[in-house]
Amino acid sequence: MAELERPAGRTPVPTDWTYAPAPESRDIVHLRERYGHFIGGEWVEAVETYETISPASEEPLAAVGQATPEEVDRAVAAARTAFADGWSSLPGSERAKYLFRIARILQERAREFAVLESLNGGKPIKESRDVDLPLAAAHFFYYAGWADKLEYAFPNRRPKPVGVAGQIIPWNFPLLMLAWKIAPALACGNTVVLKPAETTPLTALLFCDVLRQAELPPGVVNIVTGDGRTGAAIVEHEGVDKIAFTGSTDVGKAIQRRLAGSGKKLTLELGGKAANIVFDDCALDQAVEGIVNGIYFNQGHVCCAGSRLFAQESIYEPLVDKLKRRLETLRVGDPLDKNTDVGAINSAMQLEKIRELVESGREEGAQIYQPPCTLPEKGYWFTPTVFTDVAQSYRIAQEEIFGPVLSVLTFRTPDEALEKANNTPYGLSAGVWTEKGSRILWMAQRLRAGVVWANTFNRFDPTSPFGGYKESGFGREGGRHGLEPYLRFDE
Ligand code: NDP
Repeated sequence: MAELERPAGRTPVPTDWTYAPAPESRDIVHLRERYGHFIGGEWVEAVETYETISPASEEPLAAVGQATPEEVDRAVAAARTAFADGWSSLPGSERAKYLFRIARILQERAREFAVLESLNGGKPIKESRDVDLPLAAAHFFYYAGWADKLEYAFPNRRPKPVGVAGQIIPWNFPLLMLAWKIAPALACGNTVVLKPAETTPLTALLFCDVLRQAELPPGVVNIVTGDGRTGAAIVEHEGVDKIAFTGSTDVGKAIQRRLAGSGKKLTLELGGKAANIVFDDCALDQAVEGIVNGIYFNQGHVCCAGSRLFAQESIYEPLVDKLKRRLETLRVGDPLDKNTDVGAINSAMQLEKIRELVESGREEGAQIYQPPCTLPEKGYWFTPTVFTDVAQSYRIAQEEIFGPVLSVLTFRTPDEALEKANNTPYGLSAGVWTEKGSRILWMAQRLRAGVVWANTFNRFDPTSPFGGYKESGFGREGGRHGLEPYLRFDE
């Protein structure tokens, strides 16, 4: 009231717009002190263990197994037995029932999974709750629907399961990547050995409880934890018929070299350096939201993140001004706080990589902008960052930073935008912002990217195939296309 009674001409200025803390309770999550591997439907004590932590606080959460080649061998043997003992010949309608059950249980236990995902990975609870969990359940629902329709999906091609699928996933969307891998594999009648990333094993281990609740036959899904050595043991195992890998381009290339001539099927979903192209006729405020979502969603730990912003010169200044102002409103902090927009960086190693690339951006001559931001003292954090005056040759315009760092470049004509956007070894995704439908179609046909979003960014749907060109990998996940890597055809 006192504010409103001020003399005319002096606009009341609110003094404090900070949000009160709104922490999600951790009580719903019950962690064990020590986890083994999930093999043949049982928990098997791990020979070696390591500690998994919360990246937001560096607090140790649990000891988890570092699977040896012998333990991987046991998991593959369990998967082979389950494949031969009936899973591969079960009618599709029966397999579908298990997948539907898993989807329903994930929905029922969504809060527990969301809290654990944020605790172990550092992502904001509003993202794990509103994006990761609903999408993970949606993948199981979607592929449950295909399980008894494979003959219709691939008419006259007699689809058969491939066998044992070895699946290696990264730390940016731990449960969601698990769902992307396991749902189509099971729908097609395969069995699975999956390794989550070293830093984020806990939701995959909780998922084993879901498998038991769903009464999935033992050995159909086996989960072994560990670092890259465990991944390599899965890749090299002779009892594995197909490898599905999501992660860095370097490791993807090493796997491809290792598998050359082995006859194993392979799909690779690797890195990206997506162009988000903003034309001067777009709805600018909407575009700013899309840019922010494109690069700061999940701390920029997204393979398809819109990490290169191409602004048409005529709107460059208002766009960058609006973007900087919007950045000031992003709330960085506790991943379990429901108001948090940007959480913790996933690991000390990833933070180091981000810092190194940001330093290279400064040294090469780009202008850095970081909003005022108080970072927590413990844990791994990085302030949302925008670089302007970026040349195409700079490392920050070429390399995947995988952090909350945006590089802004400019263009004048659609041809120039296209030329610059395609000037990258990657080709996973792109975004186009314009009010003209014809321009969207013109750009989408010419952008060498697996996904092109128009007037939006980072939208995912299980019905839509996802995957890359060039060094972003090959093979598609999602949609009918996502079934094909898990099938062989007697033609
Ligand atoms: P990696 O490619 O190393 O990790 C992906 C998965 O592969 C993890 O489960 C990892 O295990 C496993 N792995 C590591 N080495 C091998 C190997 N030789 N054979 C088989 N599997 C292996 O990515 P990083 O976590 O090291 O991240 C490095 C960079 O990769 C990031 O900075 C980012 O740029 C990019 N990246 C891209 C992703 C994408 O989706 N496109 C996802 C993650 C990272 P472990 O966890 O133990 O290392």
